[in-house]
Amino acid sequence: MELIKGIGVSSGVVVCRAMVLGEDELRVGRRTIAPADVPEERRRLQAALAGSSDEIRELRDSTTRSLGKETGAIFDFHLGLLNDPQLLKTFLFGIETNYSSAEYAVHKALRDYGRIFLNHEDAFFRERVKDIYDIERRLLDKLMGKERIRLTDITEPVVIVAHDLSPSQTASLNKSLVRGIAIEAGGRTSHTAIIANSLGIPAVVGLENVAHRTTTGDMMVVNGYSGLVILDPDQATINDHKEYERRQKLYQSSLEQMRDLPARTRDGVDIALYGNIEFPSEVENAIAKGATGIGLYRTEFLYLSSDHEPTEDDHYAAYAEAIRRLGGRPVVIRTLDLGADKYSPFVEQVPEANPFLGCRSIRLCLANEKLFMVQLRAILRASVLGNVSVMFPMISAPIELHKAKMILKDVMEELEEEGLPFNRYIRVGMMVEVPATALVPHPYMSECDFFSIGTNDLIQYTLAVDRGNQRVASLYSGAHPAVLSLIQTVVRAAGRKNKPVALCGELGGDPQFTLLLIGMGIRTLSITPQNIPEIKKIIRSVTIKDAEKIARTAMSKFSANQISSYLHDATRKFLPDIFSEENPGAAHPP
Ligand code: PEP
Ligand code: MG
Repeated sequence: MELIKGIGVSSGVVVCRAMVLGEDELRVGRRTIAPADVPEERRRLQAALAGSSDEIRELRDSTTRSLGKETGAIFDFHLGLLNDPQLLKTFLFGIETNYSSAEYAVHKALRDYGRIFLNHEDAFFRERVKDIYDIERRLLDKLMGKERIRLTDITEPVVIVAHDLSPSQTASLNKSLVRGIAIEAGGRTSHTAIIANSLGIPAVVGLENVAHRTTTGDMMVVNGYSGLVILDPDQATINDHKEYERRQKLYQSSLEQMRDLPARTRDGVDIALYGNIEFPSEVENAIAKGATGIGLYRTEFLYLSSDHEPTEDDHYAAYAEAIRRLGGRPVVIRTLDLGADKYSPFVEQVPEANPFLGCRSIRLCLANEKLFMVQLRAILRASVLGNVSVMFPMISAPIELHKAKMILKDVMEELEEEGLPFNRYIRVGMMVEVPATALVPHPYMSECDFFSIGTNDLIQYTLAVDRGNQRVASLYSGAHPAVLSLIQTVVRAAGRKNKPVALCGELGGDPQFTLLLIGMGIRTLSITPQNIPEIKKIIRSVTIKDAEKIARTAMSKFSANQISSYLHDATRKFLPDIFSEENPGAAHPP
């Protein structure tokens, strides 16, 4: 047996065989096509070759200008290869004779070609193999879009083991076959982790070298609570974990019996417990877990899961479906939060050195007004179908909010001229997830109907810790006094103006923080639906007075560790078994 410790990001325990995905397998499945599809694959291949040639020519010219002719000439080899008639014949042979997809034909031909270079006696030719792989990557990016994958090879239950999975790859997983996820990259609130949690797939991230240490077909245990992964477990360990898995399911169903009970404290204060979703199809699950509305609809996933650029009607259809499934319950539709780790092939993005600090989210929308307006039109059109609010993400200066609201107003006028119905009084809110905004929240108070604190980003920006980087994951803590102080500042500023303030980051779904957050004055939590029953149980066990006392004590401490262990102990005083071994949310599973 081999034990690897990572970060548990999606609860549950699974004992299952591994499927290791190397980068190539992720990108290129061995897919055959019907003979009738040959012309279409040929066309896709030609388009990818032409697009790649144009890019390389541009790269060669700009390199020549900045670094001189000799350096620019490096790309002549790439161009020569792309235009090599012999290589083209090989690609076409793959498509026309072997009925391979264009992707697989390119992958196979260039890998074979690369092997010839790799075995060459002349070092010059051996070196060129990197250029061949580079061309392969470029063509595949063109053919597939950088993020798109087909995990159609999976036909039996597996744990996916990989270096990394992007949020869109994770969203496309078939949850009836993918029983667990074990990856090397990522942190507790990376979008990949959040999606795994939404899908209810146990997941552990930050596992050093797990992809190299595992072979497809190996048995493994993935414990999404403790973050422990066990490779090649012996029979006794498998039995222990199967039993643990069984107990965990019982515990979950006992929690779900609380579904229709209110999230009300013992002294009668109601806390709104909403769900976070990425797709309309998640609404039922959120309601089944006890959500009384959706407090964060991450609409960018429409872009990440689509094979074409979503049209206004695509947006509208998605929102209308979510609203219909909600049956009158409220939904907060967040405008596109693309960029950084959420890349879409349909939105042109210039590569950036620091994408989390770059043109992401509302900045990207303000820079692409057309894209933004398409979405706002759809949200407004859908606003007459139910209880809909709109929310802007990542506001870092009042001017951004002003611009976003101005565009919203322009869209309203447009719809009015066209005679299309919409809710002129739609509630407009913004996320507070940038420290600058949390530190000085007053300028926004009269501009918005509500606020929602996004702790996932707020923590990363406040502590300068990338939320998706496993190497600094131990520094990422919502219990840091600086983070708590910012949350308090926002809650107080909103309280003075009588504006509702919700919290929609993962912190809201962490049982350790529930007492602190309601003690600080938060009355709406929007969280991953999986976490709702447990958080409700905590809320129903305390009075607001208890929670306020706990919040005061926690806020008087100076370090994240002290605060975290205090909150842990304080929560156990009310619910002695909350972190205990009998409870599958336990800190010490088998
Ligand atoms: C957040 O940042 O806390 C948040 C809820 O938004 P996202 O996780 O989509 O960035
Ligand atoms: Mg965010």
